[in-house]
Amino acid sequence: MSQTDNATATSPAKSDFIRDMIAEDLQQGRNDGWVVTRFPPEPNGYLHIGHAKSICLNFGLALENAPKARCHLRFDDTNPIKEDTEYVESIMEDVKWLGFDWGQHLFYASDYFEKLYEFAEQLITKGLAYVCDLSPDQVREYRGTLTEPGKNSPWRDRSVEENLELFRKMRAGEFADGSRILRAKIDMAHPNITMRDPAMYRIMRAHHHRTGDAWCIYPMYDYAHPLSDALESITHSLCTLEFEDHRPFYEWLIANVNGLPGSPYQREFARLNLNYTVMSKRKLLRLVKENHVNGWDDPRMPTISGFRRRGYTPESIRHFCSTIGLTKFKGVTDYAVLEHCIRDDLNKRALRASAVLRPIKVVIENYGADRVEELEFPNNPEDPNAGVRMVPMCNEIYIDADDFMEEPVDGFHRLAPGREVRLKMAFCIICKEVVKNADGSIKELICTYDESTRHGKKPEGRPKPKGIIHWVSARHAVDAEVRLYDRLFTVESPDAGDEDFLQFLNSASLEIVAAKVEPSLAIAGAGARYQFERVGYFYVDPKDSVLGRPVFNRTVTLKDSWAKVAAK
Ligand code: ATP
Ligand code: MG
Repeated sequence: MSQTDNATATSPAKSDFIRDMIAEDLQQGRNDGWVVTRFPPEPNGYLHIGHAKSICLNFGLALENAPKARCHLRFDDTNPIKEDTEYVESIMEDVKWLGFDWGQHLFYASDYFEKLYEFAEQLITKGLAYVCDLSPDQVREYRGTLTEPGKNSPWRDRSVEENLELFRKMRAGEFADGSRILRAKIDMAHPNITMRDPAMYRIMRAHHHRTGDAWCIYPMYDYAHPLSDALESITHSLCTLEFEDHRPFYEWLIANVNGLPGSPYQREFARLNLNYTVMSKRKLLRLVKENHVNGWDDPRMPTISGFRRRGYTPESIRHFCSTIGLTKFKGVTDYAVLEHCIRDDLNKRALRASAVLRPIKVVIENYGADRVEELEFPNNPEDPNAGVRMVPMCNEIYIDADDFMEEPVDGFHRLAPGREVRLKMAFCIICKEVVKNADGSIKELICTYDESTRHGKKPEGRPKPKGIIHWVSARHAVDAEVRLYDRLFTVESPDAGDEDFLQFLNSASLEIVAAKVEPSLAIAGAGARYQFERVGYFYVDPKDSVLGRPVFNRTVTLKDSWAKVAAK
């Protein structure tokens, strides 16, 4: 076993029906006390947060049951048309980033193509498989429906010899693509449609990213998957509920193929669905290909690489997966649960910094034009070891446009003409005058400050200001690009109805602002995480940020502002 330690920090797994089942197997001494799981992605897209649930489960079980346990990473690469090495590489990167390690146990279904072919000949020899010449439309027609049994294919009673000869010719490339398939011979009247002589092989002249042009027949997923599990001596094959109907064929193959080293069983759990997003790879691919987002790792994507680039931590995603747990019920998880997990983690680890996203200038006229002082700020009040930093103050500062109202509404306690407010970690200022540009927009605010209000002291003879706002020194501030990401869709279930899910794209899912940030952020390194005080958590964009001109991605707001918006 070579699982990494960094995933062991995850809180101990709660019990669930799968863990109970495994505990029972261990107690009964099944599989010599081994637990061998696998995560079997098809390399036809990038991994999403749903996959994280499966990764945490499968790799988590291996960690929990060490040392007689392991988890394989297996690429189910049986459909060459959609698969690509770019996806293989991204999947490995994402699994590692989540904190898991498959060690020596990296496999590809394509490595078993020869074995799978031999098993198919074995089934033909046993009279359990046949070559069928029906067209795809006819196959569908013969299959029957949920209420009607199917009809036997006219090719079902071919002799073993004829089937063997035809299957070998299929492999040798003697037939046109799609002209024949190899099918299991089970029962065309079976109540479970997937047992009505399911396809095992198809003819498809496609270049495979690993086997090149060696094959012109490819095994179907439902055929390759159980046998790959058995070849790797997987003990517990855990998948999502939509495969429950496929379980009988899984078991049929394991029972009827001789010479398999293992005898796995399949169990199903509910897939993760999140609101305000889509999770199928086909839909995510469309978002990418049609340029609705900037690639698979766009921070608005529910992909692992998107979350990584947005600033999520592996710990927060693992914590999320353990929070949602495992059930057999189909449900939708609220995005807010995920956001809660990331806030919780970042609150402890993110350094605090001041950033003004929509700056307006404030001139403090009684401060002294040449005066500069350094004020002490804690780096993280949640972490006593995080230390302090010095932040410059001078007579010109920026405050956020949201913290000023020329005509304050009821309940607004921040800056307004004639009103007093506290500048965080500094002193109180009073707004004396609003200077306008020719177009009526605000040019700057003229304020005065009160030296006696430092260190939280209340002003003498005046009421204590209710508002505390953040600021940055205008002469020292650094320009930064800040990308404010929001939900990608405006509705909870963009793909629930018949309409195209793209019509629910949130046109305001990305807003880019030219911010002014405190000077210490000039050297913010790619991948650093900050809490911009009063604003949210931000991540230095690993691709576009450069020293001196940082680019920040908003990971998450400080509070769940979306819930309020949705409730309106
Ligand atoms: P999609 O339906 O999103 O295209 P998939 O199921 O085709 O995904 P695979 O690459 O075949 O993607 O999935 C690899 C593993 O991840 C499978 O075992 C699958 O059951 C699991 N998985 C996929 N989506 C989810 C999800 N939303 N929640 C939990 N597990 C998932
Ligand atoms: Mg799949």
